[in-house]
Amino acid sequence: MQSGFTACPGLFYATPARDGILSRIRIPGGIINSEQCRVIADISKQCGGGYVDVTNRANLQIREIHNTIDGKILRRLQEIGLGSSNTNVDHIRNIMSSPTAGIDSQELIDTRPFVEAWDKHIAAHSHLSELSAKFSVCFDGGGTVQVCDRPNDIGFVAVMVDGSLYFCLYLSIGAKGELPRNMGILLKPEECLPVLGALANVYLNHIDTISSRKPRLREVLNDLGEKNYLQEVERCLPFSLRYVDHNECPLQIPANKYKHIGIHPQRQSGLSYIGVVLPLGRLEASQIQRLAELAEDYGSGTIRLTPWQNLLISDIPNQQVNDVLNEIEKLGLHWSTANIRSALVACSGKTGCASSQTDTKRHALALAEYLDRVNLTQPINIYFSGCSKSCAQHTQSDIALLGININKGMTTVEAYHVYVCGDSEQKFGREVYQSITPAELPALIEQMLLVYQTQRSEPHESFEEFVNRHTISQLKQLFLLNQQV
Ligand code: SF4
Repeated sequence: MQSGFTACPGLFYATPARDGILSRIRIPGGIINSEQCRVIADISKQCGGGYVDVTNRANLQIREIHNTIDGKILRRLQEIGLGSSNTNVDHIRNIMSSPTAGIDSQELIDTRPFVEAWDKHIAAHSHLSELSAKFSVCFDGGGTVQVCDRPNDIGFVAVMVDGSLYFCLYLSIGAKGELPRNMGILLKPEECLPVLGALANVYLNHIDTISSRKPRLREVLNDLGEKNYLQEVERCLPFSLRYVDHNECPLQIPANKYKHIGIHPQRQSGLSYIGVVLPLGRLEASQIQRLAELAEDYGSGTIRLTPWQNLLISDIPNQQVNDVLNEIEKLGLHWSTANIRSALVACSGKTGCASSQTDTKRHALALAEYLDRVNLTQPINIYFSGCSKSCAQHTQSDIALLGININKGMTTVEAYHVYVCGDSEQKFGREVYQSITPAELPALIEQMLLVYQTQRSEPHESFEEFVNRHTISQLKQLFLLNQQV
């Protein structure tokens, strides 16, 4: 087994962070069973800080590792199906699919078999270890809880065309941060994996595989040109690519990213899943152990981690849902989108990352505690970033807070620039305020939320729609009506 450190965390490639060693466990599709949860909880206590973090690719991270995760522990993880059997490919990004794959009554196809097949394919083909660690793939079954707008190099998105099921191919191309682009190619389900293998092989044919800096697929596609790249892909396949009008498979951006939170009926009659809010994606070891017990006692022993850093407990008989909700609350966790924590995100911040200007997680938790008195009617995504890299959030936020250091008299203090409604061009969004200290922040954000809730044009107007109806100076006036910052 490999050890040593790299910039990309993995199970077999631990990475140093400010708060100790960081180990990332890939969970393909985010689906994990109760036994695996228990083992991870034990390792986090034995070797790390006694907690795990769910990441925005539905991985699990153990942080603050001071006692080595040794070969014996790694083998145990492999035995229970965690950690690739091929350690050389462990660094490749987790495979994403909807956390409701197979239980969503609206989905067009269950994408779990595709995730499993690609994971096995990577493990069985050692040359794929040369892929960039950021080589990322997503399968979207076209259901209620979509992942097609998450940042991935390659996306397969299920669509119905003239009564037949296809996957539409999306590729990351163009400028950094742009959403994956529709290639106007429809694939039958059985064609997806061969196309994925060919996309990976063409990438490898065009990079320096021994270089330590591997380009993103986007860069290779930009260099080679989309048409040439896809022609090379086609030459590797025993079938032709099916080109259609792009309008036949438009990317539907989910309006509400938090549809999975709360209680939802499953496609399986009589069963429901519960979407549980994890404050900043973190679970104490005791919480993960108890959630594993609940999943076993009431459900099928399955927990589904989401790319929004929350989790689902699935397969709960409808008549037992209330019992599980009570148990979740006893753990100090929530299951309502009205809870500010349902859409609160913070990057590692000062405690975990040397680039951070601010203690993002501490400030985010303090904000959540303060905002408990605000009655939200729909989730508002608030994102704390310790620097401009924006690691923890890949989709647009309603309110973004960018950590900076400012001079106050003779001392340097932490502060935030405040932005609203980011998009692919303006990552953080439009700047509303500069240099707001953590002490000033809670009252300001409360004011912003209250103004939105009392002055929106109709009950369903989203925060984004509300913001986009106003200029920045109008917003400042509204927000400052009862508040001086
Ligand atoms: S956004 Fe910046 S500060 Fe936060 S984890 Fe990424 S690099 Fe570190």
